[in-house]
Parts: sequence; structure tokens; C-alpha cells
Amino acid sequence: MDRRSFLLAAAALPLCGHANAQPKTMKDIQTLQQNWKTFLPAGATVPAPTEALSLSKDEWKKRLQGESYKVLREESTERAGTSPLNAEKRPGIFACAGCGLPLFTSEMKYESGTGWPSFFTTIPGVFETKKDFFLIYPRTEYHCKRCGGHHGHLFDDGPPPTGQRWCNNGVALKFLPKDAKA
Ligand SMILES: [Zn+2]
Repeated sequence: MDRRSFLLAAAALPLCGHANAQPKTMKDIQTLQQNWKTFLPAGATVPAPTEALSLSKDEWKKRLQGESYKVLREESTERAGTSPLNAEKRPGIFACAGCGLPLFTSEMKYESGTGWPSFFTTIPGVFETKKDFFLIYPRTEYHCKRCGGHHGHLFDDGPPPTGQRWCNNGVALKFLPKDAKA
């Protein structure tokens, strides 16, 4: 192994099964954001953030299972470590469980060690934020732009270059594997 391939192999080590290198610059992040559609399953049709979905409380209750309803519509938080999506590493799209809007690609996910699915950036234009004070200190809450569903909180202790940690409730997401047979 020459020095260059050794360095490349060493750089790949901390990625723990991710097929692609972690982005290093904001330009890499922009590329990830621009290429999100390449993670959609073949032939998938998905809504746009501008196609607002507004339902009554009863309609949401019919549409969402118990904990998904509590998180998405009442800003509850799932217990850490309970989501099967913590371990999800296949290529694909994480979409809103309320309305199907694509929110993150698998390449935007990282292991934060918190017990919640965590992402260092998002598909552009899919979230709106507000400050909440449920805990004594202010936190940045974020919700789906299309249906208003609560997803989680945004923190500033994520990995470089964004420094962002989008800490998302797994029950607020549904995963669409790029290869539907996978
Ligand atoms: Zn939504």
C-alpha cells in the first residue's frame, strides 16, 4: 500500500459502514443537498414543500399511530434508543411520516450517540424553525414545512463543516430505501 492509498484507507476508517466519504467543505454539503433526488427509489413520486397539507385533529389521529401522533402533532419526544431508524444505514430517503415530504438523505445521517436519528444537514427548504422553552433554556424546534409536523430540535454540536445536529424523532420519519428490494 503506498502512502496515498494508506491515507485514503485511514480516512475511511471512522465512517463505520458509510459507503461515501463524509463531506469536508460547505461545497460538499451543497452537492449533497443538490443531489438528494438520486436517493429516491426508482419511479417514486413525492410531494413538494409548497404543497401544503392541512388536516383536522381527527384526521391526523386517523392517519398517524399513537406515538407518531404525539410527536408530530403535540411535540412529544420519543424515548432515546427506541427507533429502528437509529441503525438504518441503507441508501435512501428519510421522509416525513405525516405527509411524505423528503427531509434527509442517508448521506446526511451520522451516528451522534444520542439514541435519536441525527443528521448534519437537510434537503433544502423542507423545515421551518421556532424557539421553544419546554426545558428552561431556549431550544430551536423544527417542523415540516408541508404539514407543520414537529420533528425534533436543532443543536450546534454536530460534525464539521456544518456543525449542525438535527436531532430527529424516529417515529416522525419513514425510510424509503433507494433499492426497494434491499
Ligand atoms: Zn410533513
